[in-house]
Amino acid sequence: MNSLEATIEHLARAMKMPTIRRTWKQLAGQARDEGWSHEEYLAAVLQRQVADREASGTALRIAGAHFPSMKTVEDFNCDFQPSLRRDVLAHLATTTFIPKAENVILLGPPGVGKTHLGIALGVKACQQGYPTLFDTAAGWVQRLATAHHGGKLNDELRRLKRYKLLIIDEVGYLPFDAEAANLLFQLIAHRYEQGSVLVTSNMPFGRWGEVFGDDVVASAMIDRLVHHAEVLSLAGDSYRVKNRQDLLRNAEQV
Ligand code: ADP
Ligand code: MG
Repeated sequence: MNSLEATIEHLARAMKMPTIRRTWKQLAGQARDEGWSHEEYLAAVLQRQVADREASGTALRIAGAHFPSMKTVEDFNCDFQPSLRRDVLAHLATTTFIPKAENVILLGPPGVGKTHLGIALGVKACQQGYPTLFDTAAGWVQRLATAHHGGKLNDELRRLKRYKLLIIDEVGYLPFDAEAANLLFQLIAHRYEQGSVLVTSNMPFGRWGEVFGDDVVASAMIDRLVHHAEVLSLAGDSYRVKNRQDLLRNAEQV
């Protein structure tokens, strides 16, 4: 290695740009062969570095979000879910609701794709650079109760601010006791106009009083959630059942 090469390697390492260290030489050869300008060469080198950094940032955010499985907007079959407008989904997928601290509420019976869409929009958020955290409502309650019993609820709520999108899946499958309802209310109140929340529920808002065991807490929570929100009511048959029926039908045909 000559001294100029050694200097480049040293500087790339000092700037913590491993992709530049790995690619500058090969790109320089290509630049010479193809007669690139200095500007074109610099742009190509920097572009590689930025692309790698974004990809590894996305991968880290997706790993840190704790999604229960991998689902994407592209995999979502809108033909099977006519109650969801494509343009609304496409708009949500741009994630512009996140910097505005707006919320997304997905309501509907089991199997219509609420969790799928929650994860898929979470993945989009991760790709756009927004730290995201996914858990079920029961999981959130457990997390907040642990903090609360350790006298650290406020610390925990403040810590959660670093996530630009919180996903609360499955509100309504299990009823909450008074402490759980209060903890979830505090989470929603803390996020209000500060950071986005995506909530899925199998229960229409009219039955949240039953879920939270308290009409007043439920309506205070709904109030804050929907003030700046896209509320999507999904209808139709369960996709799980459809899959099973397809399998049975195919089996019959064999
Ligand atoms: P929910 O959370 O509403 O109960 P899920 O999102 O868990 O339903 O969906 C159940 C299964 O069906 C998942 O594997 C999901 O990926 C799939 N699914 C549901 N709706 C669709 C759809 N419209 N297109 C593709 N897959 C779907
Ligand atoms: Mg679900």
